[in-house]
Amino acid sequence: MPLEILTIPCRTDNYAFIAHDDTSGETAVIDVPEAGPILAALRQRGWVPSHVLLTHHHDDHWSGLADLLAAHPAPVIGAVADAGRLPPLDRAVAEGDRIEIGGETAEVIEVPGHTIGHIAYHFPQSAAVFTGDSLMALGCGRLFEGSAAQMWASLTKLAALPEDTIVCSGHEYTQSNGKFAATVDPQNPALAARIERTAAARAEGRPTVPSTLAEEKATNPFLRAADPAIRRQLGIEDAAPVAVFAEIRARKDRF
Ligand code: ZN
Ligand code: FE
Repeated sequence: MPLEILTIPCRTDNYAFIAHDDTSGETAVIDVPEAGPILAALRQRGWVPSHVLLTHHHDDHWSGLADLLAAHPAPVIGAVADAGRLPPLDRAVAEGDRIEIGGETAEVIEVPGHTIGHIAYHFPQSAAVFTGDSLMALGCGRLFEGSAAQMWASLTKLAALPEDTIVCSGHEYTQSNGKFAATVDPQNPALAARIERTAAARAEGRPTVPSTLAEEKATNPFLRAADPAIRRQLGIEDAAPVAVFAEIRARKDRF
C-alpha cells in the first residue's frame, strides 16, 4: 500500500509533508517549518510521528522541530554533509542510504545546489519524492552555496525518476515562478495551461504542491535546458545544457 501523504502549509509559504502507513502506523514528517499546523494534522488523524526527515539546514525547514519533538519524540534524520549545522541528528544519511518507513524503503538522493548538503527522499512504491528547495514547482532553489553545474546534476538525477512521481517541494512559489517561466518559454502551451491552473488554485487558496514529475518536465524551464525553443528564446542555441541552465538561473535571479 502506498503511503498516505498530506501537504501541510506552514509559516507564510512553506510546506511540510506527513507520510503515513496505515498498516504499521508509522508516520514520517518531512521538514518542520513550524510545529502548530503539523501537530494539528497529526492530532486530527490520531497519527504519531515515527521519523522526522529534514531536507536541508535552512531554518525555515526545521524551526518547528523542537516543539514537534517535545510533543512527540522521534528520531531525526538528515544529511551527514550538514550534520554540523542541522539540528542534532539521530541518523546522518548520504546518497543511496535507505530508510524503512511502514514497509516502504525510501532512498536518499544528494541534490546539492541550493545548499551543499541538500538531500531529497525518494519513496518508489508511493511514487513520491520530497525535494525541499532543490526541484520546486515550476522552479528550483536559488544557488546559495552550490554551482550551476551541481544543481544541474541534481535536477538531472531527479528528472530520471519515474514520470508519475509526485514532487513534494518546500514552498508555494508556483505563481511567481510561472511569471518568470513564461519569459523563457513563451510558446509552450503546457506552461500556459499550468499558469492558468495555478492562478485558479491560488484564487481558491489551494496548494499547487505537490506536482508531478511529468508536469515539471513539460513546463519547468529549469528541467528544460535542452529544449530547442527555450535555447532559441535565450539566443544560445548551441550551448551545453548546463550552460543553458546557468543562464536561466541567472535570469531568474535578476527577474
Ligand atoms: Zn532553503
Ligand atoms: Fe526554504
